[in-house]
Amino acid sequence: MLEPLRESLPLSDVHSVAIIGAGLSGLACGQQLAAQGIRVALFDKARGPGGRMSSKRRLSATLDLGAQAFSVRNERFANKVAEWQVAGCVARWPTSLYQASASGWQIHNDDQLRYTGAPRMSAVTRHLANTLNALPNATITLETHIAALDKVAAGWQLHDSHGSIHGPFDVVVISAPPPQAKALLAEWEPTLAAACEEKPQRGCWAGWVIFEEPLPPMAKVVATWHTVHAQHPVLRLASRNHTKPGREHQPESISLLAQLDWSDAHIESDSESTAQQLLEAFISLLPDNTKLPNIIELGAHRWRYAQPAQAGYQSYLYSTNGLALCGDSFKGSRVEDAWLSGDELGRALLGQSV
Ligand SMILES: Cc1cc2nc3c(=O)[nH]c(=O)nc-3n(C[C@H](O)[C@H](O)[C@H](O)COP(=O)(O)OP(=O)(O)OC[C@H]3O[C@@H](n4cnc5c(N)ncnc54)[C@H](O)[C@@H]3O)c2cc1C
Repeated sequence: MLEPLRESLPLSDVHSVAIIGAGLSGLACGQQLAAQGIRVALFDKARGPGGRMSSKRRLSATLDLGAQAFSVRNERFANKVAEWQVAGCVARWPTSLYQASASGWQIHNDDQLRYTGAPRMSAVTRHLANTLNALPNATITLETHIAALDKVAAGWQLHDSHGSIHGPFDVVVISAPPPQAKALLAEWEPTLAAACEEKPQRGCWAGWVIFEEPLPPMAKVVATWHTVHAQHPVLRLASRNHTKPGREHQPESISLLAQLDWSDAHIESDSESTAQQLLEAFISLLPDNTKLPNIIELGAHRWRYAQPAQAGYQSYLYSTNGLALCGDSFKGSRVEDAWLSGDELGRALLGQSV
């Protein structure tokens, strides 16, 4: 039975929790639980924590591959972001926004305050991971893809794709995007698996380009522009990494996010031709005869599950047999939603109200 209600959780029985996924939601959930003495073990298939807040580090530049910036609406998240600012892993990014179409560039500034990880987006999740790792009751195991769950008398066991078994744990939290969570749950909790199925995901190609020199100035556009929303069938947004706090001395580097419809239609394309198409789309928005500096590197990353097709409203889901789901898809589609979802599930497992 689905039990998203905190009153029904078997609180006194929860001593150990496995969290699959060390993106922001999994880390936020782990932080709540570990701070109260629960034994927490996080697992992520990637080489580093961060998930869709990850960044690519190159010799000359650092590129944000997923989230480019985030805004803050919720008061508890605002307090957390203030903590991160003090810790030095987050900074305000006073974004200078434009909108570009075939008819040119127009200023598109809104009144939204934006933040970004400093000196890269993944600094936020790296900070959370380091804080957790410093606790005696928390571990983060990377490069470990959890392939299956198993219920034994003592609790839940996790089977990784190298053949190792982890656990047992009283509760397993899955913070992976719903299609990946569903694969793990289907055998054990059809209701939760069905809830994942109701959360289809959109893909997104994220390209990057590093230039030897700054882009030439454009008439009527401030030289320090940060982000442009593109009205273009291929390109959705271009964002200048080197304008972000802590990267002022890096060469010009731009993240190029594709339109979601175009991404879904081209999700199986190869990354080289996708990167080229994203660059061409960007160039098509520049004034004719713009002479681009030499390119140091061009590439693209495929996010197969970039964001939910529709915003969620439940924050997290839980079943009475000790399986739980969190992640941005259950709350919305943004960084703040991911943090709130994980934090609220952690509190619910502890019997705390928000
Ligand atoms: C291109 C792009 C641009 C974005 N831009 C913005 C933006 O500007 N502002 C904003 O607020 N938000 C933005 N977002 C959304 C934001 O990045 C997400 O909301 C947030 O990072 C989601 O965090 P999460 O913890 O829910 O999921 P994830 O970050 O996806 O974390 C899930 C983790 O689970 C791991 N995992 C999955 N399956 C397994 C398994 N079987 N075993 C082990 N590990 C597993 C994955 O490796 C991953 O690390 C953007 C996202 C993308 C992709």
